[in-house]
Amino acid sequence: MRAALYLTSLSADLLGWLAVLIIWALWGEGLRWEHDALVCQLKRASWPVSKDKWLGGWYLRRDQSGNLKPWGGTTLSPHAIFYGPHRDMVNLVEEWSPSQHHEHTHTKQGEVWQVASFVVGVVFVLHGHPITGAIVWTLGYTCMGASGWTSAWLRGLPAYRGSVHEEHAYLVTERELGILAAARRLREREGGS
Ligand SMILES: [Zn+2]
Repeated sequence: MRAALYLTSLSADLLGWLAVLIIWALWGEGLRWEHDALVCQLKRASWPVSKDKWLGGWYLRRDQSGNLKPWGGTTLSPHAIFYGPHRDMVNLVEEWSPSQHHEHTHTKQGEVWQVASFVVGVVFVLHGHPITGAIVWTLGYTCMGASGWTSAWLRGLPAYRGSVHEEHAYLVTERELGILAAARRLREREGGS
């Protein structure tokens, strides 16, 4: 049944996979299939994360202390992700970094929106508007971002951090890391007794 979510996400994923392949070819490394998404990560000192290169550094942000650092990652479509430069990023859920938990939460959110846009797209096709249907279907995941940021801004919150999908992704990441840390502590205690 899970495969059906690849079908409903396919229009957005074809664009997302193409973008991941381009990012990997130009500035990336570590192209792989990670759980349910095609992913790569930016190389250290590559153009998107280098302020000293011409027009470079567009994938950097300021942290709370004002230092420039790369974003953790971006989910381009439900099953297409690229990460900032990370050391030791591995494909084991127990050892996933916070960025991996975070982006894979966007995968699940994106799947939800693509189911909705797929259904609406089919309605357009049935009413004789196949091109509109295809566009609406493809834009499901994009609508998640755009409407999440817009409604946060209308509520008077920061558009990015205040959006429901970001709040959810940060909370899920915290919970996942908490559960994994508790399990590790338990294992250590049992191993040590
Ligand atoms: Zn996010």
